[in-house]
Amino acid sequence: MSNITVAQCLQLAFELERVSDSARLDIEIILCHILQKNRTWLFTWPDKTLTTEQQKLFDDFLLRRKSGEPIAHIIGQREFWSLPLAVNNSTLIPRPDTELLVETTLELFANDKFDQARSCLDLGTGTGAIVLALASEKSHWQLLGVDKSADAVALAEQNRKKLNFNHVTVQQSDWFTQIVLREFDVIVSNPPYIDPQDPHLDQGDVRFEPRSALIADNHGLSDIEFIIHEGWNYLRSEGWLLLEHGYDQGEAVRELLRARGFVAVETRCDLGGNERVSLGKKLQEPT
Ligand code: GLN
Repeated sequence: MSNITVAQCLQLAFELERVSDSARLDIEIILCHILQKNRTWLFTWPDKTLTTEQQKLFDDFLLRRKSGEPIAHIIGQREFWSLPLAVNNSTLIPRPDTELLVETTLELFANDKFDQARSCLDLGTGTGAIVLALASEKSHWQLLGVDKSADAVALAEQNRKKLNFNHVTVQQSDWFTQIVLREFDVIVSNPPYIDPQDPHLDQGDVRFEPRSALIADNHGLSDIEFIIHEGWNYLRSEGWLLLEHGYDQGEAVRELLRARGFVAVETRCDLGGNERVSLGKKLQEPT
């Protein structure tokens, strides 16, 4: 029996339609990964056949996707801020929405001279997506990414090494427990913020992500509240705190920021028009 062609593989997208609303794209990503080619290649060479080994891999990946496993876990990779990041089930899969946190942070320092040194802390770094994206834009910053999960720290460190970012440090810390510096210019975080009762937790990719990275008590606000409260102590005067949060948490997060003393509090919306990132500045009168 002759081996399956690229075109025949692509036709199997329909098998994924039950589990995925991006079935066609999923198949393309799987094929690109197995063949180590880009999507244009797939459309240019529809009659190329897979080797027996590639075909075995394809069948296996298709089966895993059919059982609901996220594409990023199957190929072990997800792109964020154009950086190819290794991903596994110890952390969240980086989301496009989180690029808003990176964009907003960069905007705050847009008037810096290119070689201005700044210190940045990323709390709950996971894959390292946020801290590595910032590092890719700011070679003169000193950046620290922390996570309480040892597996996440190992993954973020693997991603850091691969990108060769020597101005980034990755370290284990349960929020601030191991943080020594108290003069950060900016603290960023995409903490867990989903209500433990949220029915979305039983749907799609999140089923395969660690609950510890997703859910927080008090309607998803408990970690955000803690970071706002403690974060103040780790910022220099005029330092910024930026937090990603749920689409319906903007008002609560702004309120928490103001109550802690932050000024210039505002919220930015993601591409879907949902309130997604709130920020505030620490301003302390000289004593
Ligand atoms: N935005 C993610 C989701 O809704 C949640 C990320 C998080 O809890 N930090 O799936």
